[in-house]
Amino acid sequence: MKRIQGWGNNQTDYPVPEPAANYLKAVVGPPPDLKNKPVTDLLEAIPPAQLPNHPLVTQDPEERLRHARGQSLPDWVDMCDGLVNTFPDGVTYPESDADIRDLIQFAQKAGASLIPYGGGSSVVGHLTPPGDGPPTLSVDLAKMNRLINLNETSFEATFEAGVSGPQLEEALQKYGYTLGHFPQSWEYSTLGGWIVTRSVGQQSYHYGRIEPLFVGGHLESPEGPLDLPRIPKSAAGPDLRHLVLGSEARLGILTQATVRIRRMPEEEHFYAAFFPDFETGAEAVRRIAQAELPVSMVRLSDSMETETTFQLSGEEKLVNLAKLGLNLFGQREERCMLLYGLTGDRATTRLADRQLAHLVRSHQGMMVRYYLGEKWMEKRFLTPYLRNTLWDIGYALDTLETSLPWDKLQEGRQAVIDAIGHGLADENEPVLVFSHISHVYTNGGSVYVTYLFRRGEDPHQTLSRWQKLKAGASQRILEHGGTISHQHGVGLDHQPYLASEKGPLGMRLIQSAVRELDPGEIMNPGKLIDLNP
Ligand SMILES: Cc1cc2nc3c(=O)[nH]c(=O)nc-3n(C[C@H](O)[C@H](O)[C@H](O)COP(=O)(O)OP(=O)(O)OC[C@H]3O[C@@H](n4cnc5c(N)ncnc54)[C@H](O)[C@@H]3O)c2cc1C
Repeated sequence: MKRIQGWGNNQTDYPVPEPAANYLKAVVGPPPDLKNKPVTDLLEAIPPAQLPNHPLVTQDPEERLRHARGQSLPDWVDMCDGLVNTFPDGVTYPESDADIRDLIQFAQKAGASLIPYGGGSSVVGHLTPPGDGPPTLSVDLAKMNRLINLNETSFEATFEAGVSGPQLEEALQKYGYTLGHFPQSWEYSTLGGWIVTRSVGQQSYHYGRIEPLFVGGHLESPEGPLDLPRIPKSAAGPDLRHLVLGSEARLGILTQATVRIRRMPEEEHFYAAFFPDFETGAEAVRRIAQAELPVSMVRLSDSMETETTFQLSGEEKLVNLAKLGLNLFGQREERCMLLYGLTGDRATTRLADRQLAHLVRSHQGMMVRYYLGEKWMEKRFLTPYLRNTLWDIGYALDTLETSLPWDKLQEGRQAVIDAIGHGLADENEPVLVFSHISHVYTNGGSVYVTYLFRRGEDPHQTLSRWQKLKAGASQRILEHGGTISHQHGVGLDHQPYLASEKGPLGMRLIQSAVRELDPGEIMNPGKLIDLNP
């Protein structure tokens, strides 16, 4: 069963090992002793629904609560600390395009708005009902999860858009294919959600971001259906797929999507390497990207992330032994860990392996072929559960991300780290902050930052700490020419920063597309862009 408070399902836990808890105490301070608000209290506080009845819509309070928020830090404070005060008035599980057209008409007549719900893994406030104004209907696409067509001639598959990561891979792998899109939220995110938020999977270097994988699809908008034919490449004017990509439900509900698929790789390996410091490691990673070495992923942790990964592994003896070995080979306190993947046929992976080893060694790096890479692979969808345990013991954890050209990446990353690291100095609160470069291109890379701080005694204090850190970091990102989001999207939290990336005319273009397909503003109002600033 999916958790109402926190990430993932109730059956899975990721305990914080005792030495790691001690490490956090030493770095960020002893955590406050706090308890989540009981779910029964949250349910009691839900106001009566403001929607007329409809056979496809339930007004069950637990359903309304489950669909009230996503996974952003403010969402967590709302759901766990009991600040949640806006709820969808109803929840529906359509099973076909016809159901969706019916629901759009119902919303138009009832003066309601619609919030499509994929896996609920949004981390930027995409799913929050506005609260004031028209009633809201959450449209959960969980029942639209079928494989409609597998085209083995063109290497394409068409799915209903509510298919989740595990369902999609299971359907493809049965026939020897994969999409290869593995965001860390894979377990609880959907194809439709990936497309409309421009998601990026962990092996994007090999498989690509979701944009090149999205070949075509079908969108139901308040103004009618929009078909995006599956054409390999076209010079016939602007590509309408790019309007739907990143549209965050403002244009309608994506009901079907055709994606490019590949044969399952013959081989896949994950290995690690260490560099004496971040600058050297980042230079090696830039070379890997620019030499276009056929690796499937690279992830270079800074020294703080490397150390924290060691601490959180719970393998105290092994870690001490590893550190001794690394020290001997000149990888000391500032050491940075690179995780990399090799995916493909045997000849390609072997060639990539040799080329990578050469590049690592020529940058004072040291290869570690056993254990670390495999462990990362084994736990890659488990690590998000750590956020639950940390929260329960009194720490709030959040992440943010950007991408920057190589010539600005180091300076931009450092500025963000400094802004967060000193962001609560006025309260004398330390913040643990670390980062990695994880998606690389020939001209730049993404910087992914994780930060951890003590929850406040009062939920409003937790929220205000987060707001300070988020605002400081976002400002530094913009000053250094980075994007406000490389992969999480805009939602509510990034909206104030969008105009500086798109410019006034760009904002008007997006607004006019939304107005054209949704003149009544019933689709996820208030997210991505304000139509009446
Ligand atoms: C632990 C964790 C790890 C994450 N890791 C990554 C990562 O590695 N890479 C990455 O890119 N992101 C990551 N994310 C962010 C998030 O998973 C992505 O934004 C994901 O694409 C959202 O998909 P979803 O199905 O959960 O959408 P939801 O969260 O349900 O919805 C997100 C937005 O999409 C809209 N939407 C959903 N489905 C449809 C549809 N069919 N038609 C129209 N609109 C729709 C919703 O209305 C909403 O506006 C992570 C989040 C978490 C919590």
